[in-house]
Amino acid sequence: MNIILMGLPGAGKGTQAEQIKANYPVPHISTGDMFRAAIKNETPLGLEAKSYMDKGELVPDSVTIGLVEERLNQEDAKGGFLLDGFPRTVEQAVALDKILAKTNRKIEKVINIDVETSILLPRLTGRRICKSCGTTYHLVFNPTKVEGVCDNCQGELYQRSDDNEETVANRLEVNIKQTAPLLDFYNRKENVVENINGDQDIKVVFSEIKKVLDTLK
Ligand code: ADP
Ligand code: ADP
Ligand code: ZN
Repeated sequence: MNIILMGLPGAGKGTQAEQIKANYPVPHISTGDMFRAAIKNETPLGLEAKSYMDKGELVPDSVTIGLVEERLNQEDAKGGFLLDGFPRTVEQAVALDKILAKTNRKIEKVINIDVETSILLPRLTGRRICKSCGTTYHLVFNPTKVEGVCDNCQGELYQRSDDNEETVANRLEVNIKQTAPLLDFYNRKENVVENINGDQDIKVVFSEIKKVLDTLK
């Protein structure tokens, strides 16, 4: 299955991707995670991406599209993939179609996690992530059993440097602008977009996504 997870920052893409990965044999391809790994490894790509991410701006297409093409052509993505955080612009969506067409592939579903924008700021500022295994938590909405300690691996939690109020406000503005045209682009394709109400319990959101994915098998 060739799937895109769409949704504004904080809608729950990463959280749902963790559940999908645990239930279906697809690699999770998150451009945000790839950029953060590059920053950690201090590669030239990481250096360039960091300057945009710190401001909450989009990393330029010239960098992002090539990175995704390379990843989609790796062996483990040939039988299906779960894209998270890409495409974020119509230009990226057009480029993605071209990349997939080269190997006779296409997008089967766009799962759009839909939420009111007013809930996103508290979701993002309260987000905490495990340093060791990457599991996402929330201080209030999805807390760990022991404060500051990962339930899965006892790892330490951290806050992403772009999850502060100022950067979040800009990220939301940038992404809201791109969302309507991007959804239009996919709505023009027949039966591709599935809208899921993301303002429900994490488990309920996943059960609705699961219903959609089970129609693909
Ligand atoms: P995204 O990848 O779309 O930016 P995340 O999955 O990282 O979003 O979720 C953002 C924050 O909101 C995290 O702290 C996460 O624990 C929390 N969260 C995710 N889904 C829900 C939900 N359905 N209800 C309440 N909080 C949620
Ligand atoms: P979230 O969904 O919570 O905003 P991500 O981890 O997906 O977070 O993205 C973090 C940052 O990485 C974005 O603010 C942006 O700077 C960069 N980024 C991620 N995906 C893309 C993309 N498809 N195009 C451009 N920049 C991206
Ligand atoms: Zn952990």
